[in-house]
Amino acid sequence: MREVEVVVVGAGQAGLASAYHLRRTGLEADRDFVVLDHSPGPGGAWQFRWPSLTYGKVHGMHALPGMELVGADPARASSEVISEYFDRYERTFDLRVLRPVDVRAVREGPGGRLLVETSGGVWATRALISATGTWDRPFWPRSPGQETFRGRQLHTVRYPGPEAFAGQRVVVVGGGASGTQHLLEIAPYAAATTWVTRRPPVFREGPFDEEAGRAAVALVEERVRQGLPPRSVVSVTGLPLNDAIREGLAAGVLDRQPMFDRITPDGVEWGDGRRVAADVILWATGFRPAVGHLTPLRLREPGGGVRLEGTRAAADPRVHLVGYGPSASTIGANRAGRAAVRDIRRLLAGQEPAAA
Ligand SMILES: Cc1cc2nc3c(=O)[nH]c(=O)nc-3n(C[C@H](O)[C@H](O)[C@H](O)COP(=O)(O)OP(=O)(O)OC[C@H]3O[C@@H](n4cnc5c(N)ncnc54)[C@H](O)[C@@H]3O)c2cc1C
Repeated sequence: MREVEVVVVGAGQAGLASAYHLRRTGLEADRDFVVLDHSPGPGGAWQFRWPSLTYGKVHGMHALPGMELVGADPARASSEVISEYFDRYERTFDLRVLRPVDVRAVREGPGGRLLVETSGGVWATRALISATGTWDRPFWPRSPGQETFRGRQLHTVRYPGPEAFAGQRVVVVGGGASGTQHLLEIAPYAAATTWVTRRPPVFREGPFDEEAGRAAVALVEERVRQGLPPRSVVSVTGLPLNDAIREGLAAGVLDRQPMFDRITPDGVEWGDGRRVAADVILWATGFRPAVGHLTPLRLREPGGGVRLEGTRAAADPRVHLVGYGPSASTIGANRAGRAAVRDIRRLLAGQEPAAA
């Protein structure tokens, strides 16, 4: 068993921003803190994003603290661009991410330390930053008849790009950014597309300025303060009415249908008997926070979420969640990483936590 001051779980935007601030406080990677990640290479979840999600299509990606991402070719896959950038970042700031190391459980240990049990051994730590994102927990709702479908079903997490759907009839489920992007990409290749969403999509006119961003974050923050499961920041901001969406609406690609009532062997069916034949059902139904490793600490509230004060778990001041709920964006993760480290410094110095 190794002893450290801080364990950071996850080396995406949230984990690397946190590690950067730990370094800035004078702590050293490997000696005072470790960053553990179970993915094969640098890039966080970006390394798994589909090839047609080019860097030019990623809007609002904020650079990590202390190092800009400059000169990237917008036509290259964001998975490549961002993985290379994260790799450079880790080396520049000597963050020494240990991978692949899967964190399986965090539990109470002796002497007020937390025990972090992993595929690579056990660490005993005084503080923990959990920065595990959501990519590892795709949300896939169940529908009656789902197991009878003879075609292919897949989630965004396995979306291979539009060419794979050439000549096929595709039903896309989900009203978020991924669902609309999949539809707009697939439509020129597919024999037919159908878009279904549980709630009517909300399109947002005008620029998404800082004030709108703050209002959206405040809504998610309030849920987390109440111990409710966070909704993604994007889910409360609505879909931006950009040129691509406008064209999709005009062309009928984004002609939204209500959620079907059942899946049949050949497609989907609504209560009024209407049917759509399908070869593929693509579930763009989002993700949930990947916090299973924290289960032994019993941080969840009856409402199902982890109640936070700032980034600190209300039930355990040694545990911080960065990139969770209101900080689940690249800019949010940067800010939350800094705030978590500021708070942990106080904890390590034996001071009371600052008011959130
Ligand atoms: C398609 C898509 C496009 C997006 N575009 C934007 C955008 O343009 N701008 C923006 O601000 N945000 C965007 N987001 C959201 C953005 O990706 C996230 O807010 C941010 O990048 C997430 O960073 P993260 O570090 O929290 O998570 P991740 O990047 O998911 O990193 C989490 C890391 O934790 C590791 N991990 C997870 N569980 C464990 C475990 N048990 N043990 C060890 N390691 C573990 C994973 O391997 C991963 O490397 C997008 C999201 C999606 C899905």
